[in-house]
Amino acid sequence: MDQIVKHIIEKDPEQRAFHQAVQEVMATVEPVLDRNLEYRKQAILERITEPERVIIFRVPWMDDEGQVHVNRGFRVEMNSALGPYKGGLRFHPSVNLGIMKFLAFEQVFKNSLTTLAMGGGKGGSDFDPKGKSDTEVMHFCQSFMTELYRHIGPDTDVPAGDIGVGAREIGFLFGMYKRLKNEFTGVLTGKSLNWGGSLIRPEATGYGAVYFAAEMLATRSATLEGKTCLVSGSGNVAQFTVEKILELGGKVITMSDSSGYILDEQGLDADKLAFVKHLKNVRRGRILEYARQYRDAVYTPVDPGLKHNPLWDHKADCAMPCATENEINSQDAANLIKNGVQLVCEGANMPSTPEAIDIFLDHKLLYAPGKAANAGGVAVSGLEMAQNSMRLSWPRQEVDNRLKQIMKSIHKTCLDAAEDYGVRGNYVAGANIAGFVKVVNAMLDQGLV
Ligand code: GLU
Repeated sequence: MDQIVKHIIEKDPEQRAFHQAVQEVMATVEPVLDRNLEYRKQAILERITEPERVIIFRVPWMDDEGQVHVNRGFRVEMNSALGPYKGGLRFHPSVNLGIMKFLAFEQVFKNSLTTLAMGGGKGGSDFDPKGKSDTEVMHFCQSFMTELYRHIGPDTDVPAGDIGVGAREIGFLFGMYKRLKNEFTGVLTGKSLNWGGSLIRPEATGYGAVYFAAEMLATRSATLEGKTCLVSGSGNVAQFTVEKILELGGKVITMSDSSGYILDEQGLDADKLAFVKHLKNVRRGRILEYARQYRDAVYTPVDPGLKHNPLWDHKADCAMPCATENEINSQDAANLIKNGVQLVCEGANMPSTPEAIDIFLDHKLLYAPGKAANAGGVAVSGLEMAQNSMRLSWPRQEVDNRLKQIMKSIHKTCLDAAEDYGVRGNYVAGANIAGFVKVVNAMLDQGLV
C-alpha cells in the first residue's frame, strides 16, 4: 500500500490535496484488502486512484471592458462503475488538477454511500466569480460550456454546483448546453425550480449534514436542542446548515467567508439568517457587513497565513465546517477540544487535515467526514435526475423525507462497516470501507475496463 501511495506521489508530486485524500482512504481500507485477496490481484487500488478520463481545456472570455482573459477548465471523470459521472463544478482561483482530482476521488465514495446510481467526477475552473458582473459570469459560463458540452450528457456525466457555482451559473451553463445540443435534458443538477430543478436541492447539503449530526448525537442519547454550534462559511452549505440547526433548537454563533468571520454571542435567528442569505446570494457582499448590521456581533478578519483560525477557538458543543478544504488544522482541532466541542460534522469537502482528524479520533469525538456527512447534496441531485427522467417533480415533503432516509442510511452504513472491521464508532473508516467495497465490487463485475 505504501508503495502505491509512493508511486502516486512520484507521478504527480504537486497534487498534494489528491495525495491527502488518497492517503486517508488507503489508511482505512487495508483490512478490506486483507479480507478480499482478489482486490490486490486485480490491482484495484492502482485502478481506483487513476481517473478514467481527464479533460483540460482553454476557456477564453471577454470582460465588460473588452479585455480578453483566458482561464483553464477541467473535468475529471474519475469512476463510472456505479453510474454516470456525477459531481459539481467549482469556480475558484485555487482550482488546479490536484484539487479537481481530490474532489473527484472523494465524490466516488460519497456517491457510492448515497445508494443511488452515480459514478464520481468533478470539474471547474480557476475563474474567480468574485467581483464579476452577471454578464461577465454569463460569458465565462458560455465559453466553458462550449467545450464541456461534448463530454457530458444525462447518461454520461452530470455536473452540478460547488464553490462559486450556484443557480445563476447553472442557468447560464444549461442555456448554452441546450443551444449547442438542441436538447432539453437533465444534464446538470441544481437547476432552478421552474425549469427542471428539484425542491430541497438548494437546502440538501446543509440539511443533510445536520440530519447526519442529529443521528450521531442520537447514538449518545443527545439532540441538537440547546447546543451551541460553530459554523464556518456563509455560502449555500453554511446557510442551510444554520437554518436546520436553528429549526432543531440549536444555537449558531459564527459564520465566515474567505476574509474573516463574525461572532454573534446572542446567536443567529431567522431574521439574521435572512440577512446573510440576501447579503451573499443577492448582493454578493462580504460577511463583515453582518457586524455593521448587528452591533452585538464582532467581525474578525482572518489572515490566511495564520497558524490557526480563531473561528474555531470559542466555547461550543458542536462544530460544522462548511467552507473549504483544510480549514481545520491540528491547532484548530486542539482548540475545539479545549473549548468543549463534542461533535464535528463536515459540510465541506475534506475541511480537516489528517492531523486534525487523528486528534478527533483520539479524543473519541463524534466526527463525521464530509464524504458521509455532506452527501445529502449529491443525493438530492440524484433525486433531481430521477425526476427529470420521469418528467415530473416531487413535492417538498417527499424529497425531504427521502433525503432524511438517505442520511439515516449512510449513518447506519458507516457504523455497520466500522463495527464489522473492529473500529466501532469510527465514521472515517466506516465511510471509506462501505463506499470502497461497493465501487470495487462493481468494477470487478465489469471486468478489466
Ligand atoms: N458539489 C457537491 C458535492 O461536493 C454536489 C455535487 C452534485 O450535486 O453533483 O458533493
